[in-house]
Amino acid sequence: MSITDIKSMSFPEIAAELANLKLPEYRIKQLYTWLHKKGAADYNEMINIPAQLRSLLFDEYPIHTCRMIKKQISESDNTVKYLFSLIDGELIETVLMKYKYGYSLCLSTQVGCMMGCRFCATGLNGFVKNLTPSEMLSQIHSVQRDMNIRVSHIVLMGMGEPLENYDNVVKFIKLVSNQDGLNIGVRNLSLSTCGIVPAIYKLAENKLQLTLSVSLHAPNDQVRNLLMPINKKFPMKDLLEVCKKYVSVTSRRISFEYAMFKGINDSQECALQLSKILNNINCHVNLIPGNNVDGCSFEKSDITAIERFADVLRHNKINATVRRTLGSDIEASCGQLRRRTEKEQQIKS
Ligand code: SAH
Ligand code: SF4
Repeated sequence: MSITDIKSMSFPEIAAELANLKLPEYRIKQLYTWLHKKGAADYNEMINIPAQLRSLLFDEYPIHTCRMIKKQISESDNTVKYLFSLIDGELIETVLMKYKYGYSLCLSTQVGCMMGCRFCATGLNGFVKNLTPSEMLSQIHSVQRDMNIRVSHIVLMGMGEPLENYDNVVKFIKLVSNQDGLNIGVRNLSLSTCGIVPAIYKLAENKLQLTLSVSLHAPNDQVRNLLMPINKKFPMKDLLEVCKKYVSVTSRRISFEYAMFKGINDSQECALQLSKILNNINCHVNLIPGNNVDGCSFEKSDITAIERFADVLRHNKINATVRRTLGSDIEASCGQLRRRTEKEQQIKS
């Protein structure tokens, strides 16, 4: 975080930063409300703040915002996918989903990703940078303004591995749940990880009440090594152990994501093995038809194979649902839109 990134700062940090201006507390509260609750993109919007102060802040504390580059609205469901440009020109993706209970926003936490999962468009493009708390918050502000809605749920399941950007993500969680800010309760937040074991221990110690999703995608190390290089560093035994710890410390059920690829991880035998390794964990399994990604050879499983797999899990008393793939007509799988846009830009230049 750069010291002038004011939207990444908590209320006490802003007060300390501006202490030499000797502002009354209500003025700092007004500023905080504009930045966080109203998501002001520009100091000119802050009409109850004196013009002289606004211009001073404008010069020293630029507000991090997201500029919309593309917006794709799914014809098959209510999913909207945004491609945003950050102030340094980097591109990120954000996906809005409408559910019965409200609007849920899938945020990016990094530009690119270092984890290199073989089926993932984000992983294929390598790592560029970690997002700051303000860059995560700005995705919510921009979408709320564009659609004139209020987002009620957040999933950290867009581009990037959130636990590789631990400090910024935890700071973001504190800011987004602040009552004077967007006030989205931690219970309405989920975080998806490929399984950074030490960081999950840290999360458990922090006792944040968020929903943890672990991208498992395999019933044994052999298959997981093939799909996810991180498994060589943190094998499944260690991963499942920390998952149990997370459940016991937080009393929250854990979700396992399982993307299904034809002939790789979708056999009945895989389903049996998965039932065995999960049988003593309070969990839910989300089966997702794998998205075909340009540049990788895995193919999505047939729906019959997925349903059969789900039946085996349920028969063995494992909670399982087959997740509908939201927005598959708009490349809603993480990293696909950025990957294609950057390719197009390369062709043009
Ligand atoms: N890095 C985190 C969160 C971002 S990825 C993680 O890996 O969990 C969000 C989810 O999309 C993960 O569950 C990931 O495994 C899944 N995903 C990525 N590419 C996919 C694809 N081609 N098909 C299906 N799911 C995919
Ligand atoms: Fe990174 Fe998640 Fe994609 Fe793996 S699936 S490369 S961890 S974003």
